[in-house]
Amino acid sequence: MTEPDKHTIAEAIERYRRRTGKLPQPPRAVLFDMDGVLFNSMPGHAAAWKRMCDENGIPASEEEFFAYEGRTGASTINILFRRTYGREASTEEIEKLYARKSELFRKMPPVDTMAGAREALDLCRTEGIPSVLVTGSGQSSLLKRLDAEFPEAFPSGRRVTAADVSHGKPDPEPFIKGREKAGAGIVPEAVVAVDNAPLGVRSASESGAFTIGVNTGPIPHGALLEAGADIELKSMEECTNLLRELFHIV
Ligand code: CA
Repeated sequence: MTEPDKHTIAEAIERYRRRTGKLPQPPRAVLFDMDGVLFNSMPGHAAAWKRMCDENGIPASEEEFFAYEGRTGASTINILFRRTYGREASTEEIEKLYARKSELFRKMPPVDTMAGAREALDLCRTEGIPSVLVTGSGQSSLLKRLDAEFPEAFPSGRRVTAADVSHGKPDPEPFIKGREKAGAGIVPEAVVAVDNAPLGVRSASESGAFTIGVNTGPIPHGALLEAGADIELKSMEECTNLLRELFHIV
């Protein structure tokens, strides 16, 4: 397992300082995305989206859904509709298609938790730092599994899901809401955000959080730095090691 060295961390802090004009403060909250960070669920999501499209005669490729990761279901369906039919989808169409996609996803083989995710959350608990869920997902099957897989990590007051925001990722609103749910008076520079997708990373960095991109999927190395991450790592194990350092050096 690769430990992020002091030089890499110093570089990340410098990148944060350059883009925000501030230095990160000792973390008072860590905001975690769900798919691709806590659950290894992206391959199943991409396959379910593709199946739903096939059933409805909407041309699509499985790969494109990795690029849309972080968007709400409604936003993804609108991309498909604008491209295929030259219009937005109606509320009824969005509900019907997203329900079908969710149903197909539930029928996929059960997803595993992401290796290293539990350690990252345990570390937060040990250090007394609140962990907050910030996901664009409305996938109730996975949201329910959170409690079983990561007990007590995300009490109901510390979850931001598709239902809580008017503007999903890449808008900063989800991560701003996540910071507010972590506690009163927490400034952005005392927040660490973890996301695996370019749109999620953009949302996190624009919220002012120190942003860790974990590249756990098929996107090219460097894409998360390009999207605004302060540091790009390869796994949640590396992320846990970095969090341990951040809790004590900044
Ligand atoms: Ca994700």
